[in-house]
This record gives sequence, C-alpha cells and structure tokens, in this order.
Amino acid sequence: KSKARRARKETSTTTLDDVAGIESAKREITEIIDFLKSPERFRELGAVMPKGVLLVGPPGTGKTLLARAIAGEAEVPFFSISASEFIEMFVGVGASRVRDMFQTARKEAPALIFIDELDAVGRSRGAGLGGGHDEREQTLNQILTEMDGFEAHENILVLAATNRPDVLDSALLRPGRFDRKITLDRPHKDAREAILKVHVRKVPLASDVDLEAIAARTIGFSGADLKNLVNEAALTAVREDLDEVNSHCFDLARDRIILGEERDAHMTP
Ligand code: ATP
Repeated sequence: KSKARRARKETSTTTLDDVAGIESAKREITEIIDFLKSPERFRELGAVMPKGVLLVGPPGTGKTLLARAIAGEAEVPFFSISASEFIEMFVGVGASRVRDMFQTARKEAPALIFIDELDAVGRSRGAGLGGGHDEREQTLNQILTEMDGFEAHENILVLAATNRPDVLDSALLRPGRFDRKITLDRPHKDAREAILKVHVRKVPLASDVDLEAIAARTIGFSGADLKNLVNEAALTAVREDLDEVNSHCFDLARDRIILGEERDAHMTP
C-alpha cells in the first residue's frame, strides 16, 4: 500500500511558454503571478487577492502544468500534494500532513500550494458514498481551518484542481477560501495547434508535417493527449529508423491513440 508522504516541494522551471491554448485564462493568471511577485503593489492600492483559486477542467487539460507555470513565473516555491492520497492514510495523518504543508509554506512565503484532485477529500460532507469517511472529513476540515488561518496578505496562494466542481462541499467555495475559479476546457482547433507547437519544440519534423491539419483531425484530444501524440509519432520514427518525424508517423500515432481509447471505452462497464 502507498505510504503517507509529505507534500513535495519543488522549484518550478515551468513557464507560461510551456502552456498553450488557454488565452481566456491568461489575464487572471497574469494577475496572480503579479501578486506573488510584488504583493506590496496590491497592498498599496488596497487590493485584496484571493487566497484560493480553483482550477477546473477535464483530465489532461493542464491544471497541474498551469499551477507549476504560475510558480515558475513568480519564482516562488511550489508545494504540492494530491488529495486522493489522504484517503489511504491512517486516521489523523491526512490532517497533519495538511497542517505541515501550510506551516512550511508560510515560513517560505511567498509560496504556492497546489492540492491536486481536491474532490477526493472535498466532496460534500454527509453525502459520502460508503458512509462517514473520517479521514476524508478530517482532512477537509483541516484544509478549511488552514485557509481561514492565514491572511490574504501573507502571500500564500492555494491552487486546487478538480474535474468535479459539482460535488465539492460548499464550505470550500465560500469567500476567503476557493472563491475564484479558472476553467480549462478541452482545446479547440487553434488551441490544439498551439499546444502541438509547444510539444514539437525539440522534435525534428519532416517538411510534410502540417500541424494545422493535425490539429483539425484531433477533435476531443486534451493537452495531455496531444503531448502523447507527439511522443508516439517520435517513437514511430525511431522504430522506422528515420531522421525526422514525418506526417505518416503522426497518422500512425493518431490511429494508435484513438484505437487505444476505443478499446478502453469498450472495457469500462
Ligand atoms: P489531471 O486532471 O489528469 O491531473 P491536468 O489537467 O492536471 O490533468 P496536466 O497533468 O497538467 O493535466 O497535463 C499533462 C501534460 O499534458 C502536461 O504536463 C503537458 O505536457 C500537457 N498539456 C496539457 N495541457 C497543456 C497545454 N494547455 N499546453 C501545453 N501542454 C499541455
């Protein structure tokens, strides 16, 4: 069984250049970065920044990537933990991990805390499937306590990701907690092309590769799927002993990914 672990701390080298196709969210993100970089500017003008921002979107749309990019751009330490891990812990451990993480982050402020899969502990209390999940509730309560326990001017920003905002306990969404929301949708065609461009940066492409055409034929692909597509195409080129990744490699990669997903879909009940 997985062992309880402490929050990871990292220095993020991800920047906004690594994130593509999220133009609509960029303004809000820029504001958050500015706040982490020069909080005094906001204080002077009496502007209060949110303590918590919810990143909402389907799997693979770049929620984790975006959180890392914010920390990277603002040059602040990035503490991350996945809420799903709390469920497997002994009672009391989840809550104490949350406490530890906030304590460390406050010492190193300005800092960014990222809680992935918030819905794993943040589901509406009392409506839990399978009855009272003590560990889950204690962890959720601790997150709420911690968020109330620091002031907006302390320069801690908590980002949390979820693809199920509908099941979240309303206490999480109250003012002073996760009261801002950034939505990441599956990318439309232009966004897919922009994301492909990011991921082919280090890939030698043959002249017959048309990224716009590939973007047009990958409806429904998330950012993570597109990254996977580029990698599969590169692997195909290696297998075929080519010097460049050509259009044929992309076709094969796309077929493999789509067929793979169909096979998975048939197997899920
Ligand atoms: P999950 O809900 O499954 O945790 P997520 O939304 O956190 O997914 P990420 O883990 O950030 O998604 O995305 C996986 C990878 O897909 C990223 O590391 C990145 O390489 C790529 N990716 C996703 N979205 C984008 C994007 N908008 N621009 C560039 N790359 C992207």
